[in-house]
Amino acid sequence: WWSGVEVGPPDPIFGLLEAYNKDERTNKVNLTVGAYRDDQGKPYVLNVVKQIERDNLDKYKEKEYAGILGYPSFHRAAIEFALTPQEKHVKENLYVSAQAIGGTGALRIIALFLAKFFPHQKTIYVPAPTWGNHAPVFRSSGLNVETYRHFKPETCGFDSEACYEDLRKIPDNSLILFHACGHNPTGIDPTLDEWSQLSKICKEKNHYVFMDMAYQGFSTGDLDRDASALRLFVRDGHQLSYAQSFSKNMGLYGERVGAVTILCDTPEEKAALESQLKIIVRPMYSNPPINGARIATEILTNENYRSQWLVEMKNMADRITSMRTSLKDALAKHGSTLDWSHVTKQIGMFCFSGLSAEKVDALRNDYGIYMTRDGRISMPALCSSNVDYLDYNTIGRDIL
Ligand code: PLP
Repeated sequence: WWSGVEVGPPDPIFGLLEAYNKDERTNKVNLTVGAYRDDQGKPYVLNVVKQIERDNLDKYKEKEYAGILGYPSFHRAAIEFALTPQEKHVKENLYVSAQAIGGTGALRIIALFLAKFFPHQKTIYVPAPTWGNHAPVFRSSGLNVETYRHFKPETCGFDSEACYEDLRKIPDNSLILFHACGHNPTGIDPTLDEWSQLSKICKEKNHYVFMDMAYQGFSTGDLDRDASALRLFVRDGHQLSYAQSFSKNMGLYGERVGAVTILCDTPEEKAALESQLKIIVRPMYSNPPINGARIATEILTNENYRSQWLVEMKNMADRITSMRTSLKDALAKHGSTLDWSHVTKQIGMFCFSGLSAEKVDALRNDYGIYMTRDGRISMPALCSSNVDYLDYNTIGRDIL
């Protein structure tokens, strides 16, 4: 039956993880997948999550289906977290949410929805560069993908003028994706003033905005600051949609907890959208998983858990920031004369190192150091014991 099936290319991120797992060098270092590690380099389950899992065993006496779009209590907790309880759509219940299989599942649902119902051209504009899975998710859902400029290599910063120019140049009524915070892979976000300008341009051009928010609280350790771009757009009157992931900020990677929310104008619009999201989800996986959503809801709605979580989340964010300083300092210590100020200027989980694909390949082949070919380093993969190895034997000495 399958003799005509050819081997496909490995996933750019998870394929590297497989190669890393097969690598027999004992000093290998994995800087690929965006998952938090503690300072011993070990995966970390938040203490508050362990506590809730124990408590939930008693609290929930059933494992029934959640419903096609998941738990309304989870939707509510998630939108209050993203937009605050005081926001107009939240107060007036003018939103539709679907509990999703992680942030990726949320993207998949909105992509299918937009491909089916967006009334204008079915092209979504994403930043250049963007997370490696954006284009595959959108294309396989029936959208075309184009880019607008975001990153300026000369300054390792946000290319505001180029970005404004691109968003003005593309057709009116276009679909625009923004990373709400902690841009992946560059770690470079617009300032609030720049967001304000972006919002204005999108209004003038009547672009439809979709925000991908995979890192609220995890980018800077401050969940309000991380949501400020999304909230600004909503305040400016954008009837937008957004995806949330609770993989990173709650350390619930494998539980697959995410949500997609579409803001609506009227109860009639809400009813129509809700019915259509159900029609999209039902043939894919019928109902979302319940365990992670129950944990996330507890964290967001129980004051006691929430305050414990905020401390743990801040600790994670702070450790990543401290690794940025260690990386930069170690590079200087080992004699690198290049300007590495972008390492500490960038925020969030990733450092966009500026290493070329050839250098990345050399690091992997010669030293067992794995990172994606765009030179992205997953910062939490660094810890006290490997940061010096990384710098001295490789980056600091002969690769650069
Ligand atoms: N969107 C962005 C920008 C991401 O960086 C990620 C994860 O790396 C996701 C979505 C997907 O999140 P999840 O792992 O919850 O599917």
